[in-house]
Amino acid sequence: MPPSPLSLEDSLITSLAVRQNVPTAKVLIVDRDPAFVKKLRSVVGEAGYPTVGACTATEALATIKTEGCQIVILDREMPEIDGLVLCAAIRAARVLPGYVYIILRSSQDSEKDMLIGLQAGADDYVSKHTPVTQLIARLMTAQRILALEHGLRTTLEERTQWALTDSLTGVRNRRCFDLELRRELKIARPYGGDLSLIVIDVDYFKAVNDQHGHAVGDEVLEAIARRLEGLLPRDTDWLARVGGEEFAAVLPQTPLRGAMKVAENIRAGVEAQPMATQVGLVPIKVSLGVSGTQRLTSQEASVEELLRRADACLYASKRDGRNRVTVDEGGSLGLTTPSVTRRA
Ligand code: GH3
Ligand code: MG
Ligand code: MG
Repeated sequence: MPPSPLSLEDSLITSLAVRQNVPTAKVLIVDRDPAFVKKLRSVVGEAGYPTVGACTATEALATIKTEGCQIVILDREMPEIDGLVLCAAIRAARVLPGYVYIILRSSQDSEKDMLIGLQAGADDYVSKHTPVTQLIARLMTAQRILALEHGLRTTLEERTQWALTDSLTGVRNRRCFDLELRRELKIARPYGGDLSLIVIDVDYFKAVNDQHGHAVGDEVLEAIARRLEGLLPRDTDWLARVGGEEFAAVLPQTPLRGAMKVAENIRAGVEAQPMATQVGLVPIKVSLGVSGTQRLTSQEASVEELLRRADACLYASKRDGRNRVTVDEGGSLGLTTPSVTRRA
């Protein structure tokens, strides 16, 4: 019987289990008494934890940030800003990308005091009379929880990355295209920057599959993605695979005139050199459609409208003979390559 596929939970646990080598968290010891800070740093250091110290709340907040301390042993009875306020401030500020584990130390160790400490955001509350061996054991608990949190966060980041990446070509997928273009438009609009979109469809790609097989077709698609990436002129330009053999290039801060030149350069750059595959060189041509915010009001400038217009131009390029660029622009743009059509 074939093994049953891993459930999401199973694979999450597996990927957490292999993340054993999480670095030991740096411990910040906060106490008004510098001599005590020094003494505790030495004990905690001997237990294998890197340490830093601070004697005021302001210094502590800054140190967490600059040193990336994920464990804080905090004196509740501090001058000026006390430990409870600092504890709440660490929680509110979210100073680090990861979790900060706080152990509050206090000479006030009644049930009520403890509840107040935990409510302020502490993860643990110990009496100042607690033996140091117990404090070290509690640090191990902190480290265990932080390792788990680190694993979860990393796994989540990886899954998010996978969910936004096209597995064949490694470029952004359709979902990422929608999300990121929407964000780009939000940025472009208030500053009046022109953003252009180029949709690129491979001409007669079905024939490539029919002639060489699907695996070679896949190889060609990967090679096309690399070629297209190389033909984008700016670091801020980006590529997505938005359909089977259809790509989209987003060019922020680029008016239609510039986008038209980029599109023509892409068309010529794809045609110039066949794609290398296991069965040899496969010549490829592409048809392109270009739209831009330049011709849209800020209300019209949506992902859907840009795509609709670029697709209409792409359709015109196909209809007019393929291996062409059509631009969503009625006026004179000055570039007169035979393969470029201006669509009024
Ligand atoms: P046109 O010039 O009109 O665009 O013709 P075309 O053959 O490129 O377009 P059509 O829409 O008829 O066919 C697209 C082909 O792309 C059919 C489909 O099998 C192929 N395709 C889509 N996704 C993939 C993929 O991931 N890998 C491979 N190998 N082929 C794919
Ligand atoms: Mg096609
Ligand atoms: Mg297509």
